Amino acid sequence: MHWTAARSELGAGVRSNLSGAFNNLSVMAKRDYYTVLGVGKNATDEEIKKAYRKMAMKYHPDRNPGDKQAEDKFKEVGEAYEVLGDRSKRDAYDRYGHAGVDGMSGMGGMGGMGGAGGGGFGGFAEAFGDIFGDIFGGGNRGGGTANQMYRGADLRYAMEVTLEQAANGYETEIRIPSWENCTTCKGSGAKPGTKPQTCATCHGQGQVRMQQGFFSVQQTCPTCHGSGKTVKDPCEACSGAGRIKKNKTLQVKVPAGIDDGMRIRSAGNGEPGVNGGPSGDLYVEIRIKEHSVFKRDGDDLHCEVPISMVTAALGGTIQVPTLGGSAEIELPEGVQPGKVFRLRGKGIKGLRSAEPGALYAHITVEVPVRLTDKQKQMLRELDQSLSDAKHSPQTRSWKDRLKEFFQ
Ligand SMILES: [Zn+2]
Ligand SMILES: [Zn+2]
Repeated sequence: MHWTAARSELGAGVRSNLSGAFNNLSVMAKRDYYTVLGVGKNATDEEIKKAYRKMAMKYHPDRNPGDKQAEDKFKEVGEAYEVLGDRSKRDAYDRYGHAGVDGMSGMGGMGGMGGAGGGGFGGFAEAFGDIFGDIFGGGNRGGGTANQMYRGADLRYAMEVTLEQAANGYETEIRIPSWENCTTCKGSGAKPGTKPQTCATCHGQGQVRMQQGFFSVQQTCPTCHGSGKTVKDPCEACSGAGRIKKNKTLQVKVPAGIDDGMRIRSAGNGEPGVNGGPSGDLYVEIRIKEHSVFKRDGDDLHCEVPISMVTAALGGTIQVPTLGGSAEIELPEGVQPGKVFRLRGKGIKGLRSAEPGALYAHITVEVPVRLTDKQKQMLRELDQSLSDAKHSPQTRSWKDRLKEFFQ
């Protein structure tokens, strides 16, 4: 979009420059066009174009504001390219010198500008092509353009919550950065009594095009950081920023069921926009702290429940912790380690779930340690009484498989 605008603006600028040059021609002693562009008499069209680009960029008024000498140079190289960049004019110049082209320039190039193929502007635009926008910022050149509005950047805030807080919902206050317009400069960033200037790098656009390899990339202007303005005498209270960073307190409501990695958006609580653009948003990112008992998997919870060897053998009622207190499980006789019991509805009700998930109790059997001699003796007696393979079906089938394996 900017592109077209840049081109047409460019055309207007060039036109006035060139006709200005033409008006001065009569009183200027003209230099050889090849010398002006710094190329040899037998330079190729491409070499001429390249030389011209280099010179025009070097002497462009935007890069040399107020420099009369550079301005004259700029006009001179423009005039030289006007001729050398055009096959028929270059031929005439080679044959007759300045006399051979002055008239032609006056008629075709300078006067009409619209003549098919004859105008200097066509050559100019063609020589620069896209590169013009890259160097001089693209966008609407020439004053009066409104500074563009930009949305402020989003802010991220990492918030750690416990599993219980995530499950049940949680309300808290956080301190976040906020910005207030500087009262000293009333937000302009300029020392009272002075005014901000239109940024010379981007001409108030806030953005520039940069050439990166083959690509031209639009970027926030490095000079004015997108505001389109620069401040010569910055306000002392805000260092020219126009606003002062403060902190503010924000109420955050963490909804029940939120999970690790989810974000809560607080619209408009990010950084303020530029030139009256809207503020960014604040994103509160949820991190759930590790829990000492439960592991969460979506809406489900998992926990380990150690039981004694005797309980595992005899069965009985055990207490299982849940987020909301504890629950009971009736263990049958002969529970093996690794057995999992599911308690429906004792998990977490997720943000978009109709029902809470389940709690899975993973049974581990604890082997008794630090036994007395008497206890060891009892265990040996017990072991004797358990020698019948029917008491250890797993061990029996394992031994059978081993037998097969070694045959
Ligand atoms: Zn200020
Ligand atoms: Zn700028």
